[in-house]
Amino acid sequence: MGEQRKINFAGVVRSVQPRSNVWRYRLDNRNHGLTGYNIFLKGAAAGEERNFAVAISEKQQEKMRFHIGDVISGTGWTKKYPKLEYADFYRAGSLKKEKVAIETEEESASPWTGEVPALSVYEWRGCRMLDGRTYSGKCFVCKWACMANVTIEYDWGVSQKFRFESFCYGPKNCKLYKMGKPRPVPYKGDTPSYDDGGLDEICTERRGDED
Ligand code: SF4
Repeated sequence: MGEQRKINFAGVVRSVQPRSNVWRYRLDNRNHGLTGYNIFLKGAAAGEERNFAVAISEKQQEKMRFHIGDVISGTGWTKKYPKLEYADFYRAGSLKKEKVAIETEEESASPWTGEVPALSVYEWRGCRMLDGRTYSGKCFVCKWACMANVTIEYDWGVSQKFRFESFCYGPKNCKLYKMGKPRPVPYKGDTPSYDDGGLDEICTERRGDED
């Protein structure tokens, strides 16, 4: 458990993505709970120049409408449980838009860099696993990309494992999409199960290839 402190940050927005908690149990369950947005920034946090991410709530994003290219500032807290949270800082406050990005036309091709939708839109769409390198590369700026905080039920009710996994909420026919390797889901005393895309189909069954 880390000791928490409040920090000031400022920087230019590099990406806005949904923030989610995923719960895995073998191949029986992969539940996605959306909890707000992660704002990825290049700038200064706690007096240090760096790239970093700040978790904000849905209400904060609704009000501030952060977008790639905006220069923003605010406060945040360091993480209490670093293994559980991908963003570097959370409990954001005093958020300000110091400079608004020049408006660009809504994108016509991937990666999709327009304004992020409400969390209910992500919930309805569901997501597929996204290859980690593709996430960090061309997909990083896309509003449909997501790096989730994942909890694996490793020994039911006794112990859990934690990791971060990349997902895509975008159209199934996106040319940049790559699933990557099947993901092992370990369980104590058993060989791991492999999430090889079957759960993606269930998670995104409401929509067709172009939605
Ligand atoms: S694969 Fe997904 S995250 Fe990447 S550009 Fe396409 S829709 Fe966006």
